[in-house]
Amino acid sequence: MTGSRSWTDDEVKQSTLDHVHTQALWFPRIQEAAKQYATTLAAGDASAWHERRLAALLDHAVASVPAYRALGQEVRVAASPAQALACFPVVDREILVEQLVAHCSEPLDPTSANIAYTSGTSTGSPLKFVVNHEHLIETYGAAYARREQLGIELHSRTLRPCQEILQSWYEYTEPAHGFAHVAAFGLRNLSPDDRCELARRSARFAPQTLAALPSQLLEFAGLLEESGVRLPQVRLIQTYGEFLDPRVRRRLEGYFSAAVVDAYGLREVSTVAAQCTAGSHHVEVPRVRVEVVGPDDSPQPPGTSGEIVVTELVNRAMPFIRYRTGDVGSVTTQECPCGLDWPMLLIADARKDSGTLRLANGHMVALVNVVAVLRRFAVERFQVVQRTPRSSELRVWLMPDADAGELARIQRDLKQELGSPADTGIELVHTRDFLVGPGGKHRELVNES
Ligand SMILES: [Zn+2]
Repeated sequence: MTGSRSWTDDEVKQSTLDHVHTQALWFPRIQEAAKQYATTLAAGDASAWHERRLAALLDHAVASVPAYRALGQEVRVAASPAQALACFPVVDREILVEQLVAHCSEPLDPTSANIAYTSGTSTGSPLKFVVNHEHLIETYGAAYARREQLGIELHSRTLRPCQEILQSWYEYTEPAHGFAHVAAFGLRNLSPDDRCELARRSARFAPQTLAALPSQLLEFAGLLEESGVRLPQVRLIQTYGEFLDPRVRRRLEGYFSAAVVDAYGLREVSTVAAQCTAGSHHVEVPRVRVEVVGPDDSPQPPGTSGEIVVTELVNRAMPFIRYRTGDVGSVTTQECPCGLDWPMLLIADARKDSGTLRLANGHMVALVNVVAVLRRFAVERFQVVQRTPRSSELRVWLMPDADAGELARIQRDLKQELGSPADTGIELVHTRDFLVGPGGKHRELVNES
């Protein structure tokens, strides 16, 4: 889905049906992939498998991908797959948008690959990319194995609440997710009565699992609260797609009385790191290699923070090699209480480029400075909307346990750190009304000026 236009409900449903149909056709292969993944997960050590796959991917890239052909000699004489990988340039989305064909395998077999799109960001246009079926089957298989590991049974009920693209309630069965009975709904243009009915319908559906962006789950908690409805059967909450703030995690765990497991990934490569029961984001070693690079793209040692760069090991149609994520984090090889020895990714609450805000006095301030102030307070969600070149609105929604003086305290600290409202042009507003970005993602900074 390109995210550049609104889809009709029928189009969304048709697209979902296509996915479900494909999952059903591929189901024997998905189960094979899930078994192999589960075996590796149980054994812990996947490094030999990982190294073999990395070597094969890089050989394929220099043999069949035009953008990498010139690296052939260097790669062939490299002493190890890691050294061979270091010969490849770090690439970003813009390079792939400009040189899509040069980064695709030659020849490209249209019967074993699909075209897909990222949802686009506030700064970049959607990226068109190509994935082979093997990649899709493996990502489904890995997700299937993780569900089993988390104790989610076959035929469980999963609710995907507050999906931006849907207008109505929609139910289907997903073979690749343990034949889960899935219900999804959106909140576009709904009256208070309609919202209340959706809350009651969610309760009748009685989901055991919730799966959505953290911002969508907060919105859902708000919908249930305003309707006085509880969901007592929820056992697990799966989040993805946005940074999961530890306070938001506690809010969701507290409200739903269920465990939260998060997955970090990108549409282009699927899941990069998934949380275990101990709360660590383990890199998906069988499918992904993660590097952390400094400002000059040099690899950083474990524990040092930098930009997360990923290499996906399965997709041959358009290999993603040393691909910039724009996210900041570090890798650690410390022991995890869960026992799995796959490296852990510590994802920071920061993008490499999170944007700047223009103040009334003409100064520019980085969004991270505004975030630093808000982190001191019981803020559930926030958004800065730059209305005009000199004025902006800081929308915040407080946690349920915040007291009546919290907004005044936020105002006081904003004044101390950034200047008086007359200097900054920032108007603080308490509201739950947030503008969403492409793919329904919450955006911390929206520029309307
Ligand atoms: Zn763990």
